[in-house]
This record gives sequence, structure tokens and C-alpha cells, in this order.
Amino acid sequence: MELTIQTASAAYPVILQEGAIQSISNVLPAQYDRLVVFADQHVWTLHGEEFKRQLDLEFSLHLVRAGESAKTLTHYEQSMTFLLENAVSRKSVLIAFGGGAIGDFAGFVAATYMRGIPFIQIPTTILAHDSAVGGKTGINHSLGKNMIGAFHQPLGVLYDPTFLKTLPDSEVRSGFSEVIKHAFLSDGTWSNHLQTITSINSLRKLDWQAELAKGIQVKAKIVEQDEKEASVRKYLNLGHTYGHALEALAGFGRLKHGEAVAIGLVVTFYLSGLEQLATNWFKQLSKLGYPLEAVTQFSIEEIITYIRKDKKNSGEDIQFVLLHEIGKPYVSTVHEEAIRLAHDRLVNLVK
Ligand code: NAD
Ligand code: ZN
Repeated sequence: MELTIQTASAAYPVILQEGAIQSISNVLPAQYDRLVVFADQHVWTLHGEEFKRQLDLEFSLHLVRAGESAKTLTHYEQSMTFLLENAVSRKSVLIAFGGGAIGDFAGFVAATYMRGIPFIQIPTTILAHDSAVGGKTGINHSLGKNMIGAFHQPLGVLYDPTFLKTLPDSEVRSGFSEVIKHAFLSDGTWSNHLQTITSINSLRKLDWQAELAKGIQVKAKIVEQDEKEASVRKYLNLGHTYGHALEALAGFGRLKHGEAVAIGLVVTFYLSGLEQLATNWFKQLSKLGYPLEAVTQFSIEEIITYIRKDKKNSGEDIQFVLLHEIGKPYVSTVHEEAIRLAHDRLVNLVK
């Protein structure tokens, strides 16, 4: 299955099927001097052999620490050293193999090495259906997540759902949040269907190729209208304002990005006045085993302080993406007191 992402700056394919890496010639430039693969080291242990078999081309390999811990300035500098020592040029192509963290990290390296070299995303998580598309790349600073970054669209995305089979349950949960986020943003029938999944086993057995395709199409439609987040792209932050705060307070990587977003969605639904949706979603999260107790570990003061620091809330007002109803997002200023109240209601559900 092939989808096309069209933005103001680029158009590129997402090849979503078993054996997708074998289609690399569809996205490689006619002329390139070498391939450099940045792989998540855990993913490489699991799937490196299959990757090599499918790619069937020569490349230099740079293994990066698994997951979120890759996205640091220290690793960034080490990776730049690797590229310079290996005489990687502007005609080289960088490949990211792993989840959203390695995609963000390698994408940012590609965006900035010699003022930008081309790169290809080969995602291996459910969540990466979101991160691999749209061109946002970046790393973390100790003062904030994704604070250092660039827009850099890939040459293409080669997405093989077979790799998803080895994901631990926590990563399936994390990825599912971003899929259902796309459903909440766009389509009541689709989100109703996803809301019927109440066991981790049935979640694992979803037809992920079909679900990822739908998620990517929602993201693509938004990014096509607004590549640089001047307007509608903000909607993709549904659940993220509160979620990011939890994720950061817990310590990057401890609470999974999507797990934090899932919890952020409960708060978002309360703030939107969608009481029923908030409680139904909470119950579903509880049945699926999301780490909801995380909200009891931090005070609302800590959460609000983090939200205020977040780059999207530099002024006095705190901005949230809310829903009029499923499929109808809008951005609104939210009073601190309302966030406190929504947080308290969530904490009461957890207790
Ligand atoms: P991740 O990349 O941190 O991977 C999660 C864990 O799963 C890691 O330990 C990794 O080693 C492991 N893993 C990856 N693939 C596996 C597989 N097939 N089998 C077994 N284990 C596997 O996490 P993620 O959830 O994919 O991505 C999260 C990151 O994406 C965050 O840094 C977030 O900020 C970023 N993100 C970016 C965007 C964007 O638009 N750029 C959007 C959403 C999220
Ligand atoms: Zn996200």
C-alpha cells in the first residue's frame, strides 16, 4: 500500500506493507554516494538481520541507544563525529531504523549535518506512524522535551508492520494513543470502533496496517494544509499539553510518550466538557492497563509550571486543543483553575 504525503516543501511516499524495505529504490535519489543507517540498538538486535536481507545494499551502521535516551545533545555530537570521521557527504543518505525516538534523532542529525542531507524513515513502532510523517525532527534538552529541532521532510517512509510483532505491551499501548488521537480528531465511526477494544490481546491483534494507514492519512491531511504549525497542525497536539508535562515530570522514557498522551486525553475531554467521553476513555485505559497512577505522583502545581514552560505556552495564557465533539477540534485558552479541576477529577477516578 502506498500513500503520498504532500507538503509545501516536499512530496514523498509512505510504503506501508510487509517487506517495505525492499522498495527502497523507489525513494532513493538516482545519485547518492553512500548510505548510513542510524539504528536503535535494541531494534537492531531484534531485526538487524531482516533489515540487511531486505535492504540488500551496502551501508555504514551507527547504533544509537534505544528509545528516548538517544535524543540528547551528547549523542548528537557523537553522531556528528561519526559522520565526519566516515566522510559522509551531502550526497549521502541517512536512514533511521527504529521508533519515533530514533526517527526524531536521526532526522535532526540529517537536517543539520552540513546544513541538511536527505534521509529515509524506517519506523518499527506503532507510534511512529505519527512521528515518521510530517517532518518534525528534534532532540531533548534537560529543560524541555523536543526543545531543539528542525523541520526536515524525509525522502520517504518504508513501514513494515511485521516489525510491530515484537513490541512490548507498553509500546503497543503507547502507539495506540496516537492512533486513536487521529480518530478523535477526525472520525466518530472510526473512534467508536477503536473504543470497543478493551483487552491488550485484542489490541495486539488489530489490523495494524489498516489502522496505521488511516492514522497517516489524517496526519497527512493536516500537515498538507499547515506544514510548519501556523494553524491546523496544532490540532495534532490533542492530549499533549498535559501529557508532555506528565512525561517530562516522570523523566523522559519512564512514562511512554503515548501513555502520557492517553492520560492527557482524559484531561482534554474534561476541559472540552465531554464528560461521558472522558469517563469512557478512562475506563478503557484502565482495562488496557495504562499506568494511570502516574497522575497521583505529581502535584497540579508541578504540572502547570511545566505547561507554562512548554514552548507553546510562552505567554500568560495556557492553550489547549479541545474538541467541540469528536472530529471537531479547536484551540482555546484555558484558565488554570479549569486545568486544576480536570486534574482533580482524573485523580479521583484513579483513587
Ligand atoms: P521509541 O522510539 O522510544 O521506542 C520505544 C521502545 O521500543 C524503545 O526501547 C525501542 O528500542 C523499542 N522498539 C522499537 N521498535 C521495536 C520493535 N519493533 N520491537 C521491540 N521493541 C521495539 O518510542 P516511540 O513511541 O516509537 O516514539 C516516541 C518518540 O517519538 C518521542 O521521542 C516523541 O517525542 C516522538 N514523536 C515525534 C513526533 C514527530 O512529529 N516528530 C510525533 C510523535 C512522537
Ligand atoms: Zn505525540
